[in-house]
Amino acid sequence: MGGAGTARGTRDAELFDAVDVSLWVEDFTAVTNALDALRASGVTDLRAWLAEHPGFVMEAAGWVEVLDVNEATARLLEARSRDEVMGTLSLSRVFVPETAASFTEELVMFWEGGTRLELETVLRTLRGRHVAVMLTLTRPSAEHSDRVFVTMRDVTAQKDSQRALQESEARFRNMADHAPVMLWVTDVTGRCLYLSRSWYDFTGQTHAESLGFGWLGAVHPDDAERAGAVFLAANAEHLPFQLDYRLRHKGGEYRWAIDSASPRFGPAGEFLGYIGSVIDISDRKQVEQERERLLVAMDEAIRIRDEFLAVASHELKTPLTPLHLKLQTLARVAREGRGPELLERLPADLEVMQRQVKRLSTLVGELLDVTLISGGQLRLEPEPVDLGALLREVSLRFDAESQRTSTPIHAELAEVVGQWDRARLEQAVSNLLSNALKYGEGHPVHLRTGRTADHAWFSIRDEGIGIPPEAMDRIFEKFERAVSERHYGGLGLGLYVTRQNVRAMGGTIDVRSTPGEGATFTVHLPCRVSDERAAGGLAR
Ligand code: ADP
Repeated sequence: MGGAGTARGTRDAELFDAVDVSLWVEDFTAVTNALDALRASGVTDLRAWLAEHPGFVMEAAGWVEVLDVNEATARLLEARSRDEVMGTLSLSRVFVPETAASFTEELVMFWEGGTRLELETVLRTLRGRHVAVMLTLTRPSAEHSDRVFVTMRDVTAQKDSQRALQESEARFRNMADHAPVMLWVTDVTGRCLYLSRSWYDFTGQTHAESLGFGWLGAVHPDDAERAGAVFLAANAEHLPFQLDYRLRHKGGEYRWAIDSASPRFGPAGEFLGYIGSVIDISDRKQVEQERERLLVAMDEAIRIRDEFLAVASHELKTPLTPLHLKLQTLARVAREGRGPELLERLPADLEVMQRQVKRLSTLVGELLDVTLISGGQLRLEPEPVDLGALLREVSLRFDAESQRTSTPIHAELAEVVGQWDRARLEQAVSNLLSNALKYGEGHPVHLRTGRTADHAWFSIRDEGIGIPPEAMDRIFEKFERAVSERHYGGLGLGLYVTRQNVRAMGGTIDVRSTPGEGATFTVHLPCRVSDERAAGGLAR
């Protein structure tokens, strides 16, 4: 036990041993003498001189006499007793290269007349274990200028956890920066502390722009307020949350993103902020929307088809019933040899039967046309046609029906000659005229033809039920009807087929109507069907 220890009062001694900090009292006399000798020999820059004489530091460490240490020091150095640490040569026993470097600083302090030094270093315990220590070196007074008091604190655990923290932080950043999603971390107040590299890559924001609440600047202006409010509300309650918003890509366009986050809690359960992720879901959203659209279009297509099948079977059956009845009756009368009755019935019954057969063949014809149009198989065969004559001819076929239903047909037809497909044109006129008779029954129907410089036209006007404005476009589509099937039979194909025919010849069809006052369908045709169209067949 050194002399300085015995010089302490009892209370001081108790205190000296009780504190949990390693305390040392060292005598540097031999060291300061050596330094004085160096100075006397002309050395001015000790640091430079020591660099050239590396052996001096270890040697000088051996000259320091440890006068006293407390129990905490013995524990720190894993000494069996305090005596093991006392005396000269004990310092150099605990030196590792880091300690030697620190001792250089001590020497420089002495050289420069300093009185206090604080540094962090590493030493080796007497059992060979490396310990990180925080040490202070104090020269208390001028009169004991060679006396040094040293305190040491073992900071190994602290350093380890600091290193572990740094490592885990580095691991997190590395992971976050390479994750395929954007990651972010906020503090207790909701301010953003960190955003992974993918955020910056995506938005083109800088760190300064995005941290704090700056990230909201990359959110679509229409979504930013809601996004901020959802986040702050969750932040106040420390609850997990998820929200979607449009996020500006650095290219300028906005893309849909899902932002979801979980609160972070410390070991004592205290709220620390959030960790969250942002995923670009634009592509997914687009695929979903497209799928939804397709599904709806398919809802719809199936509904139309089913409805069509129901209507078609009904329509095809309707003419069959009277036809069947008439045939049955005539067959019975013939079988029973009732000759005069047969002759009497025949004209009227035949007319009924012809009408039904015509209706049937029209329906079947429409179906066939739709099939051919859908398959792109209709070909045009243009030939010189007089539109006026063609309308007259077709209207004559409706003579009987016109008379039967008291729907007179007024024609104002001029000769208009052009190159068209006669069959297609006849079908168009026939469809429009039969609609006029059907929907304008009991009122006159007007047919007109005319021509402009390069177009021919014809119109068919009735004074019937007319068409509601909202149905005007729709009625030209397949299966579309603007009347109830209970009141008017039909497949909803006539106008579709008509427009396809007209378009195939390079023409247009339009309709004007006042509901309750009738409808006028006008067809414009170029006077020549181009060869290309004639060869190309009908558009779908
Ligand atoms: P269909 O007459 O067999 O129903 P169309 O394709 O010929 O099929 O006509 C489609 C729909 O357009 C009709 O169901 C009807 O609602 C409407 N329409 C067509 N022509 C007229 C017309 N002259 N007057 C009133 N409505 C019409």
